[in-house]
Amino acid sequence: MPSICTTVEVDVEFEAFCAECGEGICHLVESTHSGENIRITPCDNCLENARTEGYDEAEAEKDSEIDDLNEEIDDLKNTIEDRDEEIAELEDKVDSLKARIEELEQEIDRSREEGWSEGFIEGKAA
Ligand SMILES: [Zn+2]
Repeated sequence: MPSICTTVEVDVEFEAFCAECGEGICHLVESTHSGENIRITPCDNCLENARTEGYDEAEAEKDSEIDDLNEEIDDLKNTIEDRDEEIAELEDKVDSLKARIEELEQEIDRSREEGWSEGFIEGKAA
């Protein structure tokens, strides 16, 4: 049986919708009229959402990092307060020890004077 090989040109019209959000995206379709290549760029809505999600995630991450750092600052402030109290207690202790040293030095001075005068009197008596 004889046969003929021929080429038929068919004009196909189609509509394109975003599979994610259903937005009509015909304006994002690029096609070469002679070839089979069809390029569809990502939907504007979904791109914007992805961008916003990215920002939101980054913002949430930074917010939680800020919260952590504020907690750390509060802990350190508490530690400083505790240390300040300890320092004040130690300073009081130092003051009372200095006062005790002064008392003892006065006692030493007094007993030296008494010892000296006793020795003087004894020496005179002898
Ligand atoms: Zn979409």
